[in-house]
This record gives sequence, structure tokens and C-alpha cells, in this order.
Amino acid sequence: MDLKSVLSLVEVENVEYVDFRIVDLLGRQHHVTIPAYAVDEDTFTNGVAFDGSSLIGYKGIEESDMVALPDPSSAFLDPFVEAKTLNIVCNIYNPDGTPYARDPRGIALKAEAYLEQLGIATSAYFGPESEFFLFDHVRYASGPTGSFFHIDSEEAYWNTGKEGKNLGYKVANKGGYFPVQPTDSQADIRNEMCSLLTQAGLKVERHHHEVATAGQGEINFRFDTLTRTADNLLLFKYIVRNVAAKHGKTATFMPKPIVGDNGSGMHVHQSLFQGDTPLFYEKGGYANLSEMALHYIGGILYHAPALIALTNPSTNSFKRLVPGYEAPVNLVFSKGNRSAAVRIPVAAVTPKASRIEFRTPDSTANPYLAFAAMLMAGLDGIKRKLDPRELGYGPLDKNIYDLSPAEKTDIKSAPGSLSEALTALENDSDFLLEGDVFIREVIDAWIERKRSEIQQVERTVNPKEYELYYDL
Ligand code: GLN
Ligand code: MG
Ligand code: MG
Ligand code: MG
Repeated sequence: MDLKSVLSLVEVENVEYVDFRIVDLLGRQHHVTIPAYAVDEDTFTNGVAFDGSSLIGYKGIEESDMVALPDPSSAFLDPFVEAKTLNIVCNIYNPDGTPYARDPRGIALKAEAYLEQLGIATSAYFGPESEFFLFDHVRYASGPTGSFFHIDSEEAYWNTGKEGKNLGYKVANKGGYFPVQPTDSQADIRNEMCSLLTQAGLKVERHHHEVATAGQGEINFRFDTLTRTADNLLLFKYIVRNVAAKHGKTATFMPKPIVGDNGSGMHVHQSLFQGDTPLFYEKGGYANLSEMALHYIGGILYHAPALIALTNPSTNSFKRLVPGYEAPVNLVFSKGNRSAAVRIPVAAVTPKASRIEFRTPDSTANPYLAFAAMLMAGLDGIKRKLDPRELGYGPLDKNIYDLSPAEKTDIKSAPGSLSEALTALENDSDFLLEGDVFIREVIDAWIERKRSEIQQVERTVNPKEYELYYDL
């Protein structure tokens, strides 16, 4: 949609409000709403002023006047607001008209511009599979001394040893994939989510219950270019959360909400195209991949420890990245194998469908920064011709979880904690700074914020500590 169509949509649909959306450093959306009668062409050229001082990762109050400049191509009608409302995603500018260097969406746009500038490809396509849980609305109960448990997870009850709860039949752990109703009790809710996603312009490909027992779902929408896909992902989360809320539930994308069951990942499918020509396909290569695709994989795996600080940026992320739950622990590539960090899907058999799937990421990532960082890692691999086979990243077509320690000695592992990943990012960030796509200031702000999250978590007493130490 261009500016003209947006303004005529406002007329034709009798839109009452226009909602301007921006994203903070962490990937959370915020909004400013303006009555439609006050929105005209000027709003699109001059932008909407807002105070950036309270947004995480933005400037301090001393220089907090910011401008949100709407991108008309992102407009969609909001199905959750009573008054007819058009939502538009914005880029962020300084009052002097220069792009705000910390705007995550701006960084995603710069990554795409850099790709074109290199002349390696015209488009990078991204397709995320963002898994989520739906839980009943009342999520938490106070633990022994005010720490928190999920009370609606049967597993959590099981673990807390409380008597008299959930003693009837229940689906076993990992029993969710993917029996029909009534075991799948959320099919109607996912249908409703898909209808609204379609109305909002996303091309839904499928939905299903995921492996975990308690209400884990997945909805896939069609891949698109980098920034557009990051926009789509935030739109997807918005719709999933709001449909859940309508049904008295909450949706969570946190990677590991339930101990002992599968977590939620955000596998990211990626490919490069020159116009209509797919660049990752070559008949006869390993998994029919081109040399360029292999070098892209080389870049992703080589930079993975640092990359993971952006693709798996919560302390909870590392509770998902453990063996046995289809979440990758090892930095290898493989066709078909779900225990490898990079998988080449069997479905990627035709030139157009040819792609790689990076399985490590989760949805606590800021999609603008995470997709941009993955592209930068892949491009670095292409530029430096990093061959994943020579660097010891496989291919490995066995279930890595089942290998003996001796067989695993040469396999590199993903960082074991957010702290390790941040240290890796401190030591390996030059690939992100190429072409001024990321700037040092943003990486520093990210590391500072994430280190403070680690400290907050470390200072919080955790339910497991009662089990281990209460009566010691
Ligand atoms: N939930 C798994 C993960 O954490 C993936 C399961 C699947 O999609 N096969 O990545
Ligand atoms: Mg999937
Ligand atoms: Mg899945
Ligand atoms: Mg997948």
C-alpha cells in the first residue's frame, strides 16, 4: 500500500483512528494514536512526535524528542479495537530529520540496503516459525516465599509436589504433537488467529498443535523480505496475544515455560535471490545446496556464539537449548536432522524452495536485530568463503543427542548461557558493523541491558532452590 491508498482507505473504510507503532530495543511494540481527521499527507512527511525517553534502549530524557515516520506499506486494519483503527509501523528519526541510529527497524532496512550494495543478491528472504504456549489467564501463584510458579501448567504442579491437583488423566509430556480434538483443545482458537492473520494480509500456510503437552501451538505464515518479515512477526505476535486474551488466555513466546517439556523456538528459514533466481540451489551438491548457501551456513555457524546473543537473548533461552527437546545444542548442519543448529529441510528440494533453517533462535529476539544479524553472519560467510565442512561444522546426519561423548568431542556447542553468548558478542561483533549496519552504540546498549537482566534473574530466589536447599 502506498500513501495514496492509505489515505483513501481511511476515507472509504471510515477509519476513526490511526495507530502509529514503533519498536524498542528489545522488540516490544509501542503506539501513539491519532484521530483520523488529524492525519493527512503531512503526517507521512513530517512524522509523529513522541517522547523516546521511556523506551528501553533509547535515549535519556536530555534528548528525548523523537519522530515516528510511518511506512504506508505496513498499514492494516486493527481487528481488536472497537473504533475502526488503521495501524501503521514507523521508522524512527531524530528531530533534525536524520534516521535514529538505534531504531531496530532502521538497522533491518540498512542490512537489506547493504545486501544490495554488495551485489551478492537482490533479496534475502526470511521465514520464522514462532512457537507459543497458551495458558489460562491467571498465570502465577505465590510460592513459599513470594517467588512464582506457573499454576496452570500441570507439570509445574507435578514438580511442586502439591497434593490434590491434576491427579486425573493427563496427556503425557511431549504428547501434544499432534492428536486431534479433544486432546488438541486449541484448534478453534488457532483457526480464529489464522483468519485474523489472513485479514491483516499475512499468508497463513498451516497451523498445528506443537509437541509440548500443555497448549503449545504453531502457526506458519509465508516468508518475505527481511524487514517485512520482522514487521509480520510483530503483527503475528500481536494477533496471537489478542485472540488469546479474547478467550481469557495469555499467549507466551518465552522459550521454556515448562520444565521437562518441549520449549518454544523460532526456527528461521533463509534464502537469497537475485531477482527471481534462487541462489541457494545447485543440483547434486550436498542437499542440493549451492556453494553460496554452504558459505552462508559457514557464516551462521562460525558467528553463532555471538549471533545467539541476539537470536536467543533471554536467560530463559538457554533453558530451551538443552538436549532432548528438538532444540539444537550443537553447531552443525545437516539435512533433515532436527538436532542440528542448521537444518536443510527435506521440503527444500526445488530451486525456489531451496533454503536453510537456523533452528537455534527463539521469539524473545528482537526480529529486526536478529534477522539483520543472521544476514550479516551469512554474508560474512559468503564474502570470506567460510566452508562449514572445513571448519568442522558437519554435515552430520545422525541424531546428535544420541552420540557418545567420544563421538561428540569435535562438535562445537552453542553457548550455555546468556552471559557466555554476550561475551562471545563482545569478542565478535565486527561482522555486524560492516557497512555501518549495526553501530557500536547499539551493541553496547544491548549488552548492558542484557547483563542487567542476568543480574536481576540471578538475584531472584528460584523455586528449584527450595527443593535443593530448603531442608539441607
Ligand atoms: N519446539 C522445538 C524447539 O524448541 C521444535 C519442535 C519442532 O518444530 N519440531 O525448537
Ligand atoms: Mg514448524
Ligand atoms: Mg515447530
Ligand atoms: Mg522448523
